[in-house]
Amino acid sequence: MASTSDCLFCRIINGEILASIVYKDDRVVAFNDINPQAPTHVLIVPRRHIASLNELSTEDDGIVGEVVRRAAAIAKERGIAAGGYRTVFNTNAGAGQTVFHIHLHLLGGRRLTWPPG
Ligand code: 5GP
Ligand code: ZN
Repeated sequence: MASTSDCLFCRIINGEILASIVYKDDRVVAFNDINPQAPTHVLIVPRRHIASLNELSTEDDGIVGEVVRRAAAIAKERGIAAGGYRTVFNTNAGAGQTVFHIHLHLLGGRRLTWPPG
């Protein structure tokens, strides 16, 4: 699906809505979560609108790899890679997905317990 005007993260990617951008390139954008759950809480998103992991196809394998590798790179930049961090894709309502444009949560900078709530 192309970028959609009613998608919050497409609007952040397009610059229509301000966010604290921490990284961007031709395919991936990363920005600080507006309601951080840890000292580092960054959302890494593909520019391409994909509603959830349930909509992924084989042609998305490359972009998903880029999103995951970007999370690891940001964790290294923040100095939290060695100590540990968490990466999460929430999918659909039962897991708490509220924005239907896939985004990888990067959480770190504090002790993270398991299992998550
Ligand atoms: P989800 O619950 O879908 O996995 O995660 C959506 C995330 O987007 C939440 O952690 C929420 O705080 C964040 N969020 C919602 N609206 C905005 C916004 O306008 N700007 C930013 N930077 N983050 C947002
Ligand atoms: Zn979108």
